[in-house]
Amino acid sequence: MDDKNQMTAVYPGSFDPPTLGHIDIIKRATAIFPKVIVAVLKNPGKKTTFTSEERLSMLRSAAGQEKNVEIDSFEGLLVDYVQKKNARVIIRGLRVISDFEYEFQMALMNRKLYPHIETIYLMPHEKYSYVSSSLVKEVAQLGGEVGCLVPPSVEAHLKLLFRKSKP
Ligand code: ADP
Repeated sequence: MDDKNQMTAVYPGSFDPPTLGHIDIIKRATAIFPKVIVAVLKNPGKKTTFTSEERLSMLRSAAGQEKNVEIDSFEGLLVDYVQKKNARVIIRGLRVISDFEYEFQMALMNRKLYPHIETIYLMPHEKYSYVSSSLVKEVAQLGGEVGCLVPPSVEAHLKLLFRKSKP
């Protein structure tokens, strides 16, 4: 690889909200790539619990201090964003077999669009393999303890959100 920027990896996702599973993947990616851009998807057509600004801010508190991590957001096609950043690697996390089918389709579609961009999958520590943003929200909404599954900034946001929505 001739261009150093091409060793930049983009880790895209909804991060609605970020969990310790996401943070685990970010850490693993930073151990391999000199620069990792965590890219929050801003999709006006998809309803999210947290705004993109909130998701960015939670990620910044949880992972922004790592020196080779940049936290950003993007709209539109992921491969266009990756190209714009002059990167050629997409990072995704694989927890369980059920993630595989969707991820496989996405990776092949992205390859079809931009053949030189590769998707690389990382597996989190097994203690996070059952953790998802949606499950964390469900548990938090019902008053369950999620402090061991999300970064402190996310726990605070969840507490605030679900305290507000209680009658
Ligand atoms: P998306 O809507 O793009 O799937 P998510 O925020 O749900 O966004 O996930 C972003 C990426 O992080 C996906 O590749 C997903 O498989 C991965 N991921 C989500 N939760 C975890 C976890 N607990 N451990 C490892 N990877 C995860």
